[in-house]
Amino acid sequence: MISEEKTCTRCKKSKSTDEFGKYHSPRYNVSGFQSMCKGCTAYLSNIRYHSNPAANLSQKKASAKWQAANLPKVYANQKRYRERLAAKNNTVLKTIPIYYAANIQAREEITQDSSIVQLDL
Ligand SMILES: [Zn+2]
Repeated sequence: MISEEKTCTRCKKSKSTDEFGKYHSPRYNVSGFQSMCKGCTAYLSNIRYHSNPAANLSQKKASAKWQAANLPKVYANQKRYRERLAAKNNTVLKTIPIYYAANIQAREEITQDSSIVQLDL
């Protein structure tokens, strides 16, 4: 994978795009990457949390309150998440037998090659 360079808006250093968080949807940002590098994001997040832990707690309480008042929405979101995960796993499980079927020849060559040390586990 070829990684491109991107300049962090906070530390102003040019870094590989691997050093930047990704947006799940490209509509939030043209590049698809966050404007601050992961290090700066973690740093600011840490400062924000430790400067006011009570705010974090009240946010958690507000979130729990919203969830309790919106159970159908919460369950619908959980169901959607499980379905997406199942669909993703299903795709992976379906491709494994296809991969093995396509590579039987290669696997036999490997097992018959005496130069490859077979570990007796
Ligand atoms: Zn930075």
